[in-house]
Order: sequence, then structure tokens, then C-alpha cells
Amino acid sequence: MRVTEIFLSIQGESTHAGRPCAFVRLTGCPMRCVWCDSEYTFTGGTRRSFEEILSQLKEFGCNLVEVTGGEPLAQKAAFSFITKLCDEGFEVLIETGGFVSTKQVDERATLILDVKCPASGEAERNHWANLERLRKEKDEVKFVIADLEDWEFAKEIIAEYDLENRTRAVLISPVFEVENLAEIAETVSRSGLKVRLNLQLHKYIWGKDTRGV
Ligand code: SF4
Repeated sequence: MRVTEIFLSIQGESTHAGRPCAFVRLTGCPMRCVWCDSEYTFTGGTRRSFEEILSQLKEFGCNLVEVTGGEPLAQKAAFSFITKLCDEGFEVLIETGGFVSTKQVDERATLILDVKCPASGEAERNHWANLERLRKEKDEVKFVIADLEDWEFAKEIIAEYDLENRTRAVLISPVFEVENLAEIAETVSRSGLKVRLNLQLHKYIWGKDTRGV
């Protein structure tokens, strides 16, 4: 597989935030979200065998592994790599942009599935069937919110797919350093919805560019 980076950090998002976590960031993404914070993954990277990646992960001594990108599922080999990680006994999180089908993802892995909102510029490319496959006991869905129009869009999708009741968590994730964060938080708090405001913990610890964007 083509890999941009492998590193040990703290999980910054989702209900797993705060847990020590090893990250495998795969190279490449066919999407171009306006606010993307990982454009450096679009090109480059290094070819790494499963064995090389596993060996590095074992050195970290951390059982929780997130496979991310770029778009991790854009590389076909990612599916068998995820299965390999599960076979090796790792707890596996998959952070996916939501436009590649998750059907072939090993069912032992946990999905953290993005739904792209209008301000991303990529909302037409959401693969809606992915939402039908989410599992209440473990999978989470994430809406990155750049403005209140995105929030209105998120509410519609949450209702249409009954995501409050069909996922482990609905994450509302304001774009980092968005100007009206307090207004978004206020709006979310008054919504009456079973959602979580999802701030990117790692960026508050290490800054927005240094580790684990
Ligand atoms: S899907 Fe993720 S990696 Fe791809 S452009 Fe959007 S934010 Fe960036």
C-alpha cells in the first residue's frame, strides 16, 4: 500500500477521543473538500508491505489502530489490510470520507463515517448506502460543519436515516478555527438532538499542522 505516515498519538475525535492510538495514514484521495486538512496526503507516500506496517505498529505497543487518509478505502488493498489488523488482534477504527462503499470492510472494524456537507463542495458524492450499513453498537457518523447551512443539512440527514438511533454516536465536528464556534455550539446545545460536539483534541495539544491532522 502507499502510506503517507504511521505514528503514535492520542485519538482526537469520536467517542474514542483521548485514547492512545496508532495511526496509519494512507496516501491519496479523489475528493477535494474545501476545508481539507490533509492535502499533503494527496500525492507522494511510500510503498509499504503489510508486514512492514505491522512491525512498526507492534513496536508502538498500542492496541488501538486507526486507518485513515486521505481516503483509506480508495486503495483496494486497504480492505485486506484491515482484515489483517483484525486477525492480529488490534482494535481497528476506520475514518472514511464516505464516498467509497464500506460493504467490503471487515465487520470487526469500527467505522467512523463522514457525511460531506454542502460547504465541503463534495456533498453530491456521498455514498448514501453506507449510512444504511452503520451498526448501533459500534459505528459513528461525523458531519464536519463549516456554517449553519451545513448544520441544517446535517439535521435533515440525521432525521432521514434515523442516525440518532442507528449509530453509536452522531458527531458534529466544526471546522477547526471556524469563526462562529460558540454560535454553532449554542445551536447544537439547543437542538434537542442526541449528538456530540466533536472538537479535534489533538489540534489543541499539538497545533493544527504538527501531528495527526
Ligand atoms: S475526503 Fe478527507 S482527505 Fe479527502 S479531500 Fe475530503 S477531507 Fe480531504
